[in-house]
Amino acid sequence: MGATAEQHSGRAPGVREGAGPAILFDGARIIVGDGERVIDDCALLVRNGVIEEIGSRDALTPDPTRTTVSLHGRTVMPALVNPHGHIGYWKGSGADAAHYSADNILDHLRRLAYHGVSVFQSLGTDRDDTEIRLRDRQRKGEFDDEDLAVLYTAGAGIVAPTPGSANGGPFFAADAVHETTSPEDARAHVRALAAKNADAVKFWLDDRHGTKARLQPDVYRAIVDEAHAHGLKAAAHIYTVDDAKEAIRAGADILAHLPRTPAPDRELLDLLTELDVAVFTSLSIQRPDGDGWLDDPALAELVPADAIADLRAKIRASAPQPLFDTVEAYRRMESTLRTFVDAGVRMVFSADTGLLTQVPGFAEHRELEALAAAGVPSLTVVQMATQRPAALLGLADRGTLQPGKRADFLVLSADPLRDMTNSRRIESVYLAGRPVDRSAIRARVMSSTEGPVTF
Ligand SMILES: [Zn+2]
Repeated sequence: MGATAEQHSGRAPGVREGAGPAILFDGARIIVGDGERVIDDCALLVRNGVIEEIGSRDALTPDPTRTTVSLHGRTVMPALVNPHGHIGYWKGSGADAAHYSADNILDHLRRLAYHGVSVFQSLGTDRDDTEIRLRDRQRKGEFDDEDLAVLYTAGAGIVAPTPGSANGGPFFAADAVHETTSPEDARAHVRALAAKNADAVKFWLDDRHGTKARLQPDVYRAIVDEAHAHGLKAAAHIYTVDDAKEAIRAGADILAHLPRTPAPDRELLDLLTELDVAVFTSLSIQRPDGDGWLDDPALAELVPADAIADLRAKIRASAPQPLFDTVEAYRRMESTLRTFVDAGVRMVFSADTGLLTQVPGFAEHRELEALAAAGVPSLTVVQMATQRPAALLGLADRGTLQPGKRADFLVLSADPLRDMTNSRRIESVYLAGRPVDRSAIRARVMSSTEGPVTF
């Protein structure tokens, strides 16, 4: 995704001159999303939903027909792309299989758009291909509602059955994931996913602290091999460094989490960098940061007070430990994250949205904060949540604010490079150059929320 000088200035390839009214977004500080560039007092010219020019106002061709939106004093960053969450299960203050429905998925896609997430990939918890069907309808343009994040889905992921107990998949979706102990059956499942044009393949490898059956090596090797035969990336849920190595040696393209134990060794770093494996950050879901974040006014815009109170009670009940795992494990993850960033591992933002503390749309901003708090430089944090996930999903037209890219961006009243929680100070969200109707989303989401449904 190396940017050339030609992309920085000049007209975007493929954009016809005069092919629609132009909008000049004028005067903002622009975070490009490439991990390097910030342009102050910038002119951002958008036509037909695509960025046409970006940079100096004086370099623009005079055009009396264009409209100007003044963004002086604002910061603009690319819309977020979250390649790892679980859609459709959240309602009120938690995730449960009983909440899952197409309507609830659409509710989440609205919440995501509201908070500036343009693309969301659900990773392995699709129930009866509901996500696949919704995604296909969205791709065909069958929804009138334009204020939705774009859905990607890995369909139903694969896990080993645990005799006498629920499997080691997610607690809210153990019955939705595909159980197998057979390489041939696993291949058949992956072929079925490929036939449905799934966007990735997910498998759960680890044994959840010895409480669940592990997926056997011949099975996960078959999964990865079959996924690659169909041009699909394979994402492995792992917990330990040893499992991470196993998954990578089997050919996994993505680790869905940082390994939590023990500290990474040279061998793991070499495997990750030599094979360019993407590692999802997934920090905030287990961040022991108390309940102060529940007081953020941006959360209350789409979550009613009784649901927030319920979340607070759950967090306080497990404090000082987070709702998932331990403080010690979290500190190891932070340390591992820094080691990986320093080693040049392809770290990609992931909010593991949709369960525990991960409120759809808001969890993504908690993840940005967690990454900054772990010591990742702010510009890299933004790049990890924009350019890198877009590239991972093969979205050539998203992820950075450059000519030729879609005009998907957040207008912020404060600068996230100063304080990453400023990513929540959203004044407006633009998707394909069009403002998301956030007040309409707020009215719709809040009117459909009749008190928290707890699990
Ligand atoms: Zn997950």
